[in-house]
Amino acid sequence: MQHGAEPWRVKVVEPISLPDKDTRRRRLEEAGYNVFAIPAADIFIDLLTDSGTSAMSQNQWAGLMVGDESYAGARNFYNFQETVQEITGLPFVIPTHQGRVAENLLFTTLVKPGMRVPSNSHFDTTRANIEVHGGEAADLVIAEGRDPDADHPFKGNIDLGRLDAFLKENGRDHVPIAMLTITNNSGGGQPVSLANIRGMAEVCRRHGVPFFLDACRFAENAWFIKQREPGQGHRSVPEIVADMFHAADGCTMSAKKDGLANIGGFIAMRDQGLFEKLKNMLILIEGFPTYGGLAGRDLEAVARGLREVLDERYLQFRVGQVQAFWEHLDRRGVPMIRPPGGHAVYLDARRFLPHLAQEDYPAQALTVALYLDGGVRGVEIGGVMFGKTDPQTGTAVWPQLELVRLAIPRRVYTNTHLEYVAEVIERLYANRAAVGGLRMVYAAEVLRHFTARFEPLSPARPAAPPADQV
Ligand SMILES: *Cc1c(COP(=O)(O)O)cnc(C)c1O
Repeated sequence: MQHGAEPWRVKVVEPISLPDKDTRRRRLEEAGYNVFAIPAADIFIDLLTDSGTSAMSQNQWAGLMVGDESYAGARNFYNFQETVQEITGLPFVIPTHQGRVAENLLFTTLVKPGMRVPSNSHFDTTRANIEVHGGEAADLVIAEGRDPDADHPFKGNIDLGRLDAFLKENGRDHVPIAMLTITNNSGGGQPVSLANIRGMAEVCRRHGVPFFLDACRFAENAWFIKQREPGQGHRSVPEIVADMFHAADGCTMSAKKDGLANIGGFIAMRDQGLFEKLKNMLILIEGFPTYGGLAGRDLEAVARGLREVLDERYLQFRVGQVQAFWEHLDRRGVPMIRPPGGHAVYLDARRFLPHLAQEDYPAQALTVALYLDGGVRGVEIGGVMFGKTDPQTGTAVWPQLELVRLAIPRRVYTNTHLEYVAEVIERLYANRAAVGGLRMVYAAEVLRHFTARFEPLSPARPAAPPADQV
């Protein structure tokens, strides 16, 4: 793969091994053909998520040793607060133990039944935290962002025309806040341009609606801006980051992504009145405002990670590694969402396994085949995750796309590891006709993809015409 070498060397190693094929077959049977149920020790290369899976640096590990576990006013909190203030320019900072707690605080305080919250694409925890209060989460990403084949440098952009119309139609009394996810996780990790962020700020200001960033991958987004946006190439990443946050009234953040930490998050804002309200809620659900559900040492690891993630050599390698992996597969004709996003590659299972009908769960079948053939774990984003039965008619309703996401943890796997994964996928693609479908034999009422169980269909069914599309 053609990109730079890792800008770090290995000091501590964690052994991993590939169980033999019989063991892998047995693990799949025991797990009901759901890779969530396979113990991580039996996974060789784990690309389930990039969340909380980063390798920390020596500087972060050293930070754990200066953890101050005082209940109130630990020194690590002041370092954390100052770091967030410096990077984002947002004065009021509340630590939380994950991103979704930041969302919980925000939406519990702002959303009333019948209210609507626009975004480019809401992440699933964001959507759930809005809907649980009777609100509606609206996705207003540009048309290119919904087309898996469209090439656009900023496929995560929000459609400013639709946003303006949305705010005009609903009014500030029914839209308590507007969000923008950078990079757009649900849309494939696609970036948002600085012009789009500023445009959204202007539209929101005109309508009197506060504008928050879901900033989980803010540094990767800034790197894309530097690479792709006219007039931004000569600027430093911290300068671009400062401009991104300058346009916003606040942000929610999961430090399990661009915080380069294994746990942590925060919410930061300009409005002191809102800050006071959230702080009181925080004490109820997380803890005192100077630790927010985290140990002092974890606050230190996040503070140090937030500075490290702005290192341009790190970002060049990080985004370059994902891109090179994607290009390697693309040259071999493997069907994927294009262009590659910042943190993951998405295999298009309907085109990878055209002999399977959608009711045979092609993305789940491909996920299972990746583990069986190579000990690689990805995640299904298709009919298992989003398929539904219409309560009125009893017929199955399928999502438009059947994807397998391969998320790349930060600083964890070397280029050789990803070359190995690419070879597994290549081999599987060459022998794709042998991959059979699955039948779902157990499904929970909600979030069924975590615990669903399957049985192999044999022999593989002939392809049927596509079912109803969502
Ligand atoms: C991960 C994520 C969240 C939620 O953060 P957690 O730390 O997992 O609670 C919210 N938004 C986006 C875009 C994410 O990727």
